[in-house]
Amino acid sequence: MSMKQEFVDAVKSGKVLAKKCTKCSHLHLATVYFCQNCGAKGFVNEILNGTGTVATYTIITVPPAGFEKYTPYAWVVMKIDDSELRVSGFLGGIGSPSQLPMGSRIKITGYDDRGILLEKQ
Ligand SMILES: [Zn+2]
Repeated sequence: MSMKQEFVDAVKSGKVLAKKCTKCSHLHLATVYFCQNCGAKGFVNEILNGTGTVATYTIITVPPAGFEKYTPYAWVVMKIDDSELRVSGFLGGIGSPSQLPMGSRIKITGYDDRGILLEKQ
């Protein structure tokens, strides 16, 4: 099973699969060969809750082909709780910044052709 499929399976159940360095506990999202913090080579899987806060986002009003039915929506960078990790995902129904203040609580709810699906908590 590839990392990507593992990651997608975790996201589908509202979780985030991270790789934790066995030496310094630094967390990584993608498959890495050396810890980006200490250079060690050992990792274990760490399952994080898919909850966090809005770090930044872009409101999409002119969508890519095939996404017209979803507009408006926001493409959001979420800071995952209790980590420095960030994931990007789709949050529907956002047409203006007043609807999604920075730091809003959000969570992962699934995964499909839009990517990681997010909702306000
Ligand atoms: Zn490390």
